[in-house]
Amino acid sequence: MEESFTKAREMQFPRSILVGHDTLAQCAEVSADLGFFGRGAIITGEKSNASAGNAVQDFMTEGGYDVDTIVTGAATMANVEEIVARVMEEGYGFLLAVGGGSKIDITKMVASRTRVPFISVPTTASHDGIASGRASLKSDLGPKSVQAVAPMGIIADTGVISRAPYRYLAAGCADVISNLTALMDWEFARRLRNEFFSSTAYYLSKHSAEAIIENAEFIKPDIEESVWTVIKPIIISGTSMSIAGNSRPTSGSEHMFSHALDILYPDRALHGEQCGVGTIMMTYLHGGDWMRIRKALKDIGAPVDAKGINLKEDEVVEALSKMHTIRKDRFTIVGEKGLSPEVARVVAETTLVI
Ligand SMILES: [Zn+2]
Repeated sequence: MEESFTKAREMQFPRSILVGHDTLAQCAEVSADLGFFGRGAIITGEKSNASAGNAVQDFMTEGGYDVDTIVTGAATMANVEEIVARVMEEGYGFLLAVGGGSKIDITKMVASRTRVPFISVPTTASHDGIASGRASLKSDLGPKSVQAVAPMGIIADTGVISRAPYRYLAAGCADVISNLTALMDWEFARRLRNEFFSSTAYYLSKHSAEAIIENAEFIKPDIEESVWTVIKPIIISGTSMSIAGNSRPTSGSEHMFSHALDILYPDRALHGEQCGVGTIMMTYLHGGDWMRIRKALKDIGAPVDAKGINLKEDEVVEALSKMHTIRKDRFTIVGEKGLSPEVARVVAETTLVI
């Protein structure tokens, strides 16, 4: 008898994605479309509240909604717990996450704990987590990626995002370009370890990275259209994780390099900036066209060397030779034993000091 079919997997996607100029003004409409009713809360930070939160509050009130604003800080478990308690106490029926990465991460966690749906309103586009169900939380051992819940809706106002420092947008581009080495690592693990592979997730992720590279020369500061060009690939990149059921399509050895830096030398640069530099080096290790990656990052204005991410060459070498200890379950080009310091130095000197 044939074995019976037993596969099952849940894939979460946002239902409504609104991207473009002045889309913030439509937050009440999107909320109504999603069936949100009753009282809700905006979860935001001090800066994001000034750049977009206050406006969202006004638009929601004009649209007939009763909405409170909760100003919070870093994406820590303590802040998540505090807001979970508040949401339960007040009985909010929906949430709006207004901010960069950390406020969206907090809200994803709160939504997953309370089962209250939320809309994501990014004020920056510095990484590809906008549309995904995974959240990055701060812990004593560096940032930790945890499964939470995907937003019901996304409102990406290109005007708001273009007013944020350009560095964030460039970092978001670098985070998506870094998919290319994540995908090489995934193929490598598929060939060597027979690891689960999804062609759909693979091609979506690859397409996002290529779309950014193809448009690299046109992605510039102070041009709202640059945000328009970048935001769709960033969102699509995030959905590739939902299809794969894990972060394989967007996170490989280059992310391990970035995570190693988060532990060894925290807060020197943005996540996407570190991943971009990691991708140059990991493409070299894979025998790929690392000069092409470097050129695209340079055209965009993202860092391409140690100095660009506030590190000394020795610090890069240390992170390269320790990165294999970060995520042992993820098989990548650096293997289980990692790079020797000698090899790590060759990689850094070849690709970053040219
Ligand atoms: Zn990333």
